[in-house]
Amino acid sequence: MSAPTQSIDTLITHADVITFDDEGSLFDDGAIAIDNGSIVEIGPTAALTAKFSAIETVDAAGMIAMPGLIDAHLHTAQTMMRGLFPEIIHHGNLEQPMWRKYLIPFESNLTDDDMELSGRLAYSSLLLTGTTTFFDAGGPHPDAAARAAVDTGIRGIITRSTVDDSFDIPESMRLTTDQAIEENIGLVERWPAGGRVTGAMALRQIMNCSPELITAIHREATARGVKVHTHLLEGSDEIAFSVVRYGKRPVEFLTELEVFDSTLHCAHSVFASPWDVAAYARSGASVAHCANNYMFGVPRALEYWRSGVAIGLGTDGAATSPGTLDMFRITEAVGRGQQHIYGVPVHEHFLLEPDEPLRMATRGGARALNMSEKIGRLEAGLAADIVLLRTDGPDGVAVSPLAFLVDGATGRDVDTVFVDGRRVVEGGELTTIDVAETRARGVARQKDLVAAFQNV
Ligand SMILES: [Zn+2]
Repeated sequence: MSAPTQSIDTLITHADVITFDDEGSLFDDGAIAIDNGSIVEIGPTAALTAKFSAIETVDAAGMIAMPGLIDAHLHTAQTMMRGLFPEIIHHGNLEQPMWRKYLIPFESNLTDDDMELSGRLAYSSLLLTGTTTFFDAGGPHPDAAARAAVDTGIRGIITRSTVDDSFDIPESMRLTTDQAIEENIGLVERWPAGGRVTGAMALRQIMNCSPELITAIHREATARGVKVHTHLLEGSDEIAFSVVRYGKRPVEFLTELEVFDSTLHCAHSVFASPWDVAAYARSGASVAHCANNYMFGVPRALEYWRSGVAIGLGTDGAATSPGTLDMFRITEAVGRGQQHIYGVPVHEHFLLEPDEPLRMATRGGARALNMSEKIGRLEAGLAADIVLLRTDGPDGVAVSPLAFLVDGATGRDVDTVFVDGRRVVEGGELTTIDVAETRARGVARQKDLVAAFQNV
């Protein structure tokens, strides 16, 4: 037998590889060859060890290799709000609407340093639980979040909270229409395409963005080939607002403005009529479906997904339920939620395919972020964004690796994470930043930041 001839950076060996590619390919005792940040080849370990000479070999015996998960709707700025709502509700003091009473006021109090700390907390949590890419929904100090993304080693898209039209937004978050446009353009220019961390544009939601701003941001984003992250069909108050002010439902309003197309990324999209779902499919507008959708509506995620809409899953940040950035817990909630909505009324116990929520969180997210050429599945030519999970944890005795992944795995099983071929998690520990120090700072600063809200 001749010696391996092709030199590469890294060879992962002896893994159960679950690719989520078009054919749903699985490899027992599989190997993944990585060079220059990309996947070169996937195949049997025996074949790839004979072919490749790697600088580093990672023995993944007993582990599953899968593509990194994608958080399609994250509020980096709300990371230190985790647990605030349960605490307020416990004391019987909750006021509505939450975005106006708590979420935006909390964000308005953040300094540049707070945002960097929020980013380090959020992105380390994401990486440690197997998420390699996020799309931020827009917060203050987006450059600080971007710096944290660079430092932690995650892939991400940063946006700025953008509002120009609201009577009740704290001074520090308010922008004129022209300022909002300039700030969005500046962010995209400072974090251009091609990097691991890039900028995109944002509109908070139609209740606090003027039609002039919506049209201008859509035009500037389209010209630059970036998406516009927004909230849409999130609440019944938003539908009522749209009908009262514009005489039509939100999707019809945005369609008439000629902005409802593949540039738009619409978080939640809960209160959709059947005609709205068809409009998403026709227009290419993408969706981020979040687990907290089930708290306030009857979301039609499966209908979007099976109608060909570009739909991914999102955490919605740590402030809202569940207060986790572990995307495995989100996929589980989505599986249960969609089963309940579509399966229970017709007594169909297994309406979803077992891996469907995970495919939404990988392939679906990649498509929603317009990144299918780069991430979302394990395939030669794509970025080496790879997660290795241990299968010897408390729920590890399962009939197959796929069965464990869809039925037993959580982010706590993640052992190793590669982003662009770089090992950023190893043995369940982040290799890039000091997580213990970051969390200690988070605990201390959180006390100050939530103090203003607990006695409301
Ligand atoms: Zn949100």
